[in-house]
Amino acid sequence: MKIVENIDLAPYNSFGVSVKAARYAEVTSAEDAAELFARPEVTEQGWMALGDGCNVLFTGDYPGTIVRIANREITVENEDSEGAVVRVGGGVEWDDLVEWCVSHELWGVENLSLIPGTVGACPVQNIGAYGAEAADTIREVEIWDTAEGCRRVLKAAECKFGYRESVFKHEWKGRALVLAVRFEFGKTANPRLDYGDVRARVEALGGATLRNIRTAVVEIRRAKLPDHKVVGNAGSFFKNPVVEDSVAERIKAEWPDAPTYPTPHEGMTKLAAGWLIDKCGWKGRSLGRAGVHDRQALVLVNRGGATAEEVITLAQTIRRDVAAKFGVEIDPEVNII
Ligand SMILES: Cc1cc2nc3c(=O)[nH]c(=O)nc-3n(C[C@H](O)[C@H](O)[C@H](O)COP(=O)(O)OP(=O)(O)OC[C@H]3O[C@@H](n4cnc5c(N)ncnc54)[C@H](O)[C@@H]3O)c2cc1C
Repeated sequence: MKIVENIDLAPYNSFGVSVKAARYAEVTSAEDAAELFARPEVTEQGWMALGDGCNVLFTGDYPGTIVRIANREITVENEDSEGAVVRVGGGVEWDDLVEWCVSHELWGVENLSLIPGTVGACPVQNIGAYGAEAADTIREVEIWDTAEGCRRVLKAAECKFGYRESVFKHEWKGRALVLAVRFEFGKTANPRLDYGDVRARVEALGGATLRNIRTAVVEIRRAKLPDHKVVGNAGSFFKNPVVEDSVAERIKAEWPDAPTYPTPHEGMTKLAAGWLIDKCGWKGRSLGRAGVHDRQALVLVNRGGATAEEVITLAQTIRRDVAAKFGVEIDPEVNII
């Protein structure tokens, strides 16, 4: 197990914010986790799991231990004509898993192509895009239970997945370290094309194959989203707000072009936070060294040297403007530490 003291986290968060952590540990197995969490300095000073840091904003130095999963194994545990059950180490890059599935003709995560980050974080966030989410294919999540000091397996139903939500953000927060995720992928074609430009792009590529869907999603994302390795950002800074139908109808009456999406919850509609922010005139603008991406208003960017405070001031100002114009609260999707 690798342990480093007093480390700069700038290379470990996609906003590129430079803060220090007292300690950084890379854990490959449950045995490593047992050894790490037996150390008093780890339990006493606090810890947090970090994948690629693509959904976190550090607001200051971290006084405890940053724990990163280094298990990068993909293992097919069971396979038949219907599909495959696959165990994936928490340290595997999410998009490498998507590519692996597409090249093995396994359906389920192709719409989630090019989402940065690790497999270990995917159940925490229940990552989603283009009408699909990680929860569609997750069967079980293997964790290290730091409170009880043992390995546990949580079934998908126990994870209480919702829109960018799971138990790992609530009752298991600060307790569960995700070691691996067990997925169930299908072999029957199940193209999901009814979101944004996906259908048109897939048809232009020659039809709904797994490879074409992946290519279409990658192309759409590259055209719209900044590369976090070039311009610091954490993807969507805010969640799309889910509001009562009456609120959505009021907004539609005044702005007929406002995008709305159905939700699984009766009487509730999802609005597009990016559209709301854009309508407040924020797209492409800056406040200090933090700004709003010029092609996607949901993405806040580090224009170079921005501090976490500058990003937070920008986010708060946008939030206030959206509430004043539309009477709708938008909440951060990014984990503010
Ligand atoms: C350009 C860009 C585009 C993006 N697009 C999307 C998108 O389309 N859809 C979407 O859903 N997200 C998107 N995101 C957000 C981000 O990619 C996801 O949230 C991703 O899951 C983050 O993975 P990570 O490994 O970087 O997690 P981190 O940011 O490191 O961590 C995120 C949270 O998960 C926790 N965590 C991480 N690993 C573990 C673990 N092993 N055990 C327990 N807890 C853990 C952390 O403590 C933290 O609370 C985007 C981000 C960027 C920069």
